[in-house]
Amino acid sequence: MQSQSVSRRAWLAAALAWPALAAQRRRILAGIEFQWIEHSPSPRRYLLIHGNEHTAREVLQAHMQGRRGRALLVTGQERWVTVRGLRLDPNRMFSREGARRNLHLLNPAAGRAAVEGTLDWLDREKKALLAELLPPRGGLIVSMHNNASGYSLESEVGISESVWLPSRGTPHDFILATSGADFGILERSPFNALLQERPRGEDDGSLSRLCAARGVRYVNIEARIGHEAEQRAMLEWLERHLP
Ligand SMILES: [Zn+2]
Repeated sequence: MQSQSVSRRAWLAAALAWPALAAQRRRILAGIEFQWIEHSPSPRRYLLIHGNEHTAREVLQAHMQGRRGRALLVTGQERWVTVRGLRLDPNRMFSREGARRNLHLLNPAAGRAAVEGTLDWLDREKKALLAELLPPRGGLIVSMHNNASGYSLESEVGISESVWLPSRGTPHDFILATSGADFGILERSPFNALLQERPRGEDDGSLSRLCAARGVRYVNIEARIGHEAEQRAMLEWLERHLP
């Protein structure tokens, strides 16, 4: 009896500690440190890939409190990460071509051998990242981004198959989806939305491209930096309406 009560107590202590420990976890994947938030499992995945997009970080961290699903948030505070001594935009690493162009752009002094060696390394290391990051079949991944004055939905309209622009006066706040079924639901929302199921142009190495190519349901919630209420409203609408 005693051993049973001890094991019960141990189990209870572990069960109580687990959510707190889970929320504190750090994981290094593809050479990048992530905060890992997972209170209980679900097919939902969430990502903050650019460390300097602090509005998206705050919205996502608050959103995950008590929520099912897994969130990975880059712990660094900059847009770039350093991988094997080279600077890299982490949202350009999801194809070899995209990562190659970006490594040369951000590391003009790096030789071809250093870049190719890093690409080989990324090809190996990315497998573990994608295994943790991508949802199981039919699941949804939500990526959170912020932009400033330059980038807006106008940059994406030309390579999108469908656009829904109920709020063209706020072009910095929009949702980009890779699934036609999800876009069909977003067309009933008050938010700008774009569909890129088969995006045109060259593969820039972004996660949306990889998800589109693999048939993974991906949604990017973009908001101007500081538009916390707007970004939260888009995320909450999405949770209520997308399966
Ligand atoms: Zn971003």
